[in-house]
Amino acid sequence: MLYTENSISSSSTNACSTQHDNEEFSMPATHVIPGAHGYAFEVKKGMHFRVVDLKGEQCVDLAAWVQATGLREKLSMAYTRYHLHGTTPAVGDYLWKNNDEPMLQVIDDTVKVHDMTFMSCFPKMYEKEGIKGHRSCAGNIAEVMEPYGMNGVLDVTDPLNIFQNTPNYSLKPLGSSKPGDYIQFRALKDIVCAASCCPYDLRGFNGGKSTDVAIVTGVPATDSI
Ligand SMILES: [Zn+2]
Repeated sequence: MLYTENSISSSSTNACSTQHDNEEFSMPATHVIPGAHGYAFEVKKGMHFRVVDLKGEQCVDLAAWVQATGLREKLSMAYTRYHLHGTTPAVGDYLWKNNDEPMLQVIDDTVKVHDMTFMSCFPKMYEKEGIKGHRSCAGNIAEVMEPYGMNGVLDVTDPLNIFQNTPNYSLKPLGSSKPGDYIQFRALKDIVCAASCCPYDLRGFNGGKSTDVAIVTGVPATDSI
């Protein structure tokens, strides 16, 4: 099922869960991240969540940490590249953390174009372009993770750059995702995630204007591979 913008805006549900037959069921909850901003959200072990591009051509930086470890155990692109022997996760693949354990599993993916080689865009990147005060993914992640103990952009880890089409380190504005496209993950631990709607709007990236994306938590696991 594709989440269209209309279905997102009309599904302003709140998280809700009940115990039944010793299994936890949750209702989907949708949070729309405004273009160029970030969002932190918690996901329990076994639960699914989606990152949905609402307008198209919007990259989303995703980072994640195991909640009980402060910010020590975290999603690692280096460990993931090592296990995948590459840089593009397929449906069913795991994303690994920095103690060599799987952390997330890709359950569904309508795009299949992502990047795990680039860092988050960061304040100095824009300052070198002569732009002061431009929002950045590193700044967004540091901002939304501050309540969890993050102390500035130097604490930001390398992200999975969802929907980012930059093969072989090419920095060209190559389109990938269309409105309603999404990637769905299953959490293998109790985690906290940070997602940044990439503010990089120079030279046609992100369609030339950072636009909204949606995070849908509590996605039913019936689509499991
Ligand atoms: Zn960015």
